[in-house]
Amino acid sequence: MVGLSTDHLKRRGIMLVLSSPSGAGKTSIAKAILARDGNIAPSVSVTTREQRPGETDGEDYHFISRDAFQNLVRQGQLLEYAEVFGNFYGTPRAPVDSALRDGRDLIFDIDWQGARQLTENARDDLVTVFILPPRAEDLERRLMTRAQDTADTIQRRMAKAPDELSHYPEYDYVVVNNDFETSVVQVMAILHAERQRRQRFVGLAQFIRGMQEQVRAKYPGGELM
Ligand code: 5GP
Repeated sequence: MVGLSTDHLKRRGIMLVLSSPSGAGKTSIAKAILARDGNIAPSVSVTTREQRPGETDGEDYHFISRDAFQNLVRQGQLLEYAEVFGNFYGTPRAPVDSALRDGRDLIFDIDWQGARQLTENARDDLVTVFILPPRAEDLERRLMTRAQDTADTIQRRMAKAPDELSHYPEYDYVVVNNDFETSVVQVMAILHAERQRRQRFVGLAQFIRGMQEQVRAKYPGGELM
């Protein structure tokens, strides 16, 4: 309508959590979403695990010592943390707080223990997706072809898969990673829909009121009709 402009509406950012048993393809899906969407960034976790070949410190993880990790826990600087396969992993709190405040979305590659803690502490900002492999063999095949892990590590990760799978009821959405491209589109669709949730908009009531006032000022008498 000519002559009736309104200020841009702001929204809070989303924490998009992807979890799956090792080898279901979650990391590749997360990378594709980050490449395709300009308003989502990775939440970079801290971990005490060894850096793998091909990983970059500060990008894939912040690789830190056990002492440094304990300090972060003690100082309350982690939004959630867990022990996975004998190593500690955690989400630094400060970057999450500022992203959500600024309306920037974050993608989290964390396990069910982390997703559970975020559900308890930050339900309103959280969207959780459980990625499933189409068949059990796919887990094994993906872990083997990734060639990043020793036979012993693959063995331990596979042994853990049934337990990880049991946590599916704690997630909002499920995506079966049959076809990579389809899975990426499905997770993007979840993200797009969740961005439009009414509760995420900041100052929506005020925005609507302003709009009503502007229209009423120009076209009075609506209350009488
Ligand atoms: P990986 O060692 O293969 O990178 O990760 C092992 C597991 O730890 C994966 O299931 C991954 O999702 C999980 N993980 C990575 N970062 C975090 C984190 O910050 N918190 C939690 N709770 N889990 C994490």
